[in-house]
Amino acid sequence: MNPYISQKIVYPLLFSLRREPFYADIEKLRKFQWQDQATITERQLDKFRTVAAAGICSFDFYKRIVAEHEVSVKDMQTLDDLKRWPIMNKSELNRSVSELRRKKALPAHTVRMTGGSSGDPCLVLADRLTTSISVAARALFQEWYGIGVGDRQIRLWGRPLSTGYYREQLKGFILNRIRLDSLALGKDCFNNTFKQIINFGADYLYGYASLIALFIDTLNDEQLVMLRGGLKAAISTSETMSDDQRMKLFSRLGRPIVDEYGCSEIDIISFSCPEGGRHTAAENVLVEVVRTGDEPEGFGRTVVTDLNNTLMPVIRYCVGDLVPLDRPVCHCGRGWPCIGPVLGRIQNQFIELEGGVRRVHSQFIVYMLEGLFDKGWGIRSFQIVQEDFDLIVVKVVPQEGRAIDCEELRKILAAEGCRALGPNTRWRVDLVEKDELEIAASYKFQHFVSRISAREN
Ligand SMILES: [Zn+2]
Repeated sequence: MNPYISQKIVYPLLFSLRREPFYADIEKLRKFQWQDQATITERQLDKFRTVAAAGICSFDFYKRIVAEHEVSVKDMQTLDDLKRWPIMNKSELNRSVSELRRKKALPAHTVRMTGGSSGDPCLVLADRLTTSISVAARALFQEWYGIGVGDRQIRLWGRPLSTGYYREQLKGFILNRIRLDSLALGKDCFNNTFKQIINFGADYLYGYASLIALFIDTLNDEQLVMLRGGLKAAISTSETMSDDQRMKLFSRLGRPIVDEYGCSEIDIISFSCPEGGRHTAAENVLVEVVRTGDEPEGFGRTVVTDLNNTLMPVIRYCVGDLVPLDRPVCHCGRGWPCIGPVLGRIQNQFIELEGGVRRVHSQFIVYMLEGLFDKGWGIRSFQIVQEDFDLIVVKVVPQEGRAIDCEELRKILAAEGCRALGPNTRWRVDLVEKDELEIAASYKFQHFVSRISAREN
């Protein structure tokens, strides 16, 4: 679709139908990004108190926290005061969603679901105003690179097998994007995929670092020139791109390689500016870097508070990623505080098939497990292990007091999974304890472990 039509008709209609004040939000953010840090911190603390008050008013979970830790909203006057408020983890977040779902009538909301890099499925319900300002923050960040709302996006992403083909196509048409996964980037169909991309006319690439790298590596010089035509940037998300990988991609693509960091519970946490500073989306999220005990020297965990979501407050929630304790300063003039690069999301996420000839991104299995969690399967955590070219083992930790039928789960995964991996792949499900899941050398839990790439290294 022509971006002009998308920008002037489709998106305004979409925001209006969803009653999201997107245009007012982005206007506000355009100004706020340049404010000084003291003004920004003051507003963040004010918003923190509003969200915390909403939590205490509506949730037994937060009432209990306040009573047990003897904290009060009005005491939260400085960033230092926040340290007295306890840090919450994923299972506590799940407890508050169960409480929310017991309420009779919920206002219009968006469901934010996560499993991704953490392996622990979890849900957050975000009200419409929160969703609107999240979308506005993403749009503002992209504006830094000349990307407008409705510009044509090539999405290099994992593929949810359960989502219907036509639904995906329709969504892609409305949002002016095409979605490609590692199957579409395979050698057999790459030329057709590339033709599709050029006909579409990409304004920017958006997706997993590993898929962007795979895509760009596959292009020959002539194809690179064709792609570069209208391309403004490549935005890498979900996985951390190493500096080497970024430099290599930049030298081939000749366009900015941008680093987006976020989590589904909150949406975008930070985005790199043209000067390279990873600015946090300070109007939406208060980001702290906190040592919780087991971090390597000089590192802490990302702890976030959603500053807008009063429907389901997410307060001092530990995302689990490791980032440097030192907060860098960017000299571009934007006041939104920065954070250092995330350690530990650099991982090989590809399933190797046919002796290493074919590769498929492991994210589609995460989508399958998230879907089962949503249908009520008592999955607390999971990890996917490729033991051999033809053997996938899914380790599952059941929720407390819940039983999981391994054979039934295996059948479901095998039936859906063979569409991506082929009929000869064997599947096994192992029920394990949480501490039997493997932690990578980078201290970060990885949802996917490959014995094959470990052998090769
Ligand atoms: Zn900057």
